[in-house]
Amino acid sequence: MTKIDLRPALAKMLPYAPGEQPPPGKFIKLNTNENPYPPAPAVVSALQEAATGPLNRYPDPMANAFRRAAADALGLPGPEWVLAGNGSDDILTILVRGFVGEQEKLRLPYPSYILYRTLADIQAANWEQIHFLDGWHLPTHFTNADDDLRLVFLPNPNSPSGTVVAPEQISEIASALPCPLVVDEAYADFADSNCLDLVQKHDNLLVTRTFSKAYGLAGIRFGFLVAQPALINRLASIKDSYNCDYLSIVAATAAISQQDWLTEVVAKLKQTRQRMEQRLTEMDFHVTPSQANFVWAQHPQGQHQELYDFLKKNQILVRYMDFPDWGDGIRISVGTDQQIDACMMMIERFFQ
Ligand SMILES: *Cc1c(COP(=O)(O)O)cnc(C)c1O
Repeated sequence: MTKIDLRPALAKMLPYAPGEQPPPGKFIKLNTNENPYPPAPAVVSALQEAATGPLNRYPDPMANAFRRAAADALGLPGPEWVLAGNGSDDILTILVRGFVGEQEKLRLPYPSYILYRTLADIQAANWEQIHFLDGWHLPTHFTNADDDLRLVFLPNPNSPSGTVVAPEQISEIASALPCPLVVDEAYADFADSNCLDLVQKHDNLLVTRTFSKAYGLAGIRFGFLVAQPALINRLASIKDSYNCDYLSIVAATAAISQQDWLTEVVAKLKQTRQRMEQRLTEMDFHVTPSQANFVWAQHPQGQHQELYDFLKKNQILVRYMDFPDWGDGIRISVGTDQQIDACMMMIERFFQ
């Protein structure tokens, strides 16, 4: 071992590979579930104004302006129920750092968001994947109270499936678990239900949200956690002091106050999602009904990797995903109608 090696525990870690981010303009980009529409106009003007703001000063360490706006917009009991993060990935990092020690265990469903595993690996912790049952239901052993279990993640809606576990069931899961349950609601703005209300009922139920998807602000990096105030305070003590910068706080504060805009954009994307699901079904794909801004599609002929390559050669970027012991498929983000028409036409051509 040379002196510049990282900790030995990191030798076996699975690095998380984010979706490709090519230079703008080259591809129709349907691979990382960003919003194809720009953010609300009020967000852009708030940012323009902020550019002449106090950039020489450190930002508010707790992003209190945002916390107040979020509590108002989402009907939370108060700002002390909110913790702001540099993207929800920052929140996930804080949670793993705070709850899971070396050799202790976090649990996640499978297939789902792979980043949780990487966070456990960085911590020299263990992870355990519990396979979804047919129909994307969770088996009863998802709530097993193992001695070393410290944290459970549940993306809801899930990726890549876009499916939702009902809040009533999540409430039961939280009650049964001996540790915190993190419901990752990155896509909840597109879903018919969410777990925000349950946070008041369960001190071990935590909800994370992001501005990267429905709010159209992936470039800004802002996410947040909703949990009971005592826990928010504890977690605040282990985050980076200035984890959110001034401009992102301004943008997120303006964005969360634009719920009418959000409703409108989400309605538009859901309409496009429905057209996508229909077109893919007509082309014989098995399509999982989605409550997110992407669609998971599997074709009986397989050839998903080949389809991905063909689309990419034709300037359309989707996500090919292969889950060992489970299967593979194509995840397509909901774009504009025009982008989706182009993508569907190209898929049709592939199968001709
Ligand atoms: C996109 C995504 C996130 C990451 O959100 P950021 O706020 O951009 O860090 C978190 N969880 C899931 C399941 C996601 O798909």
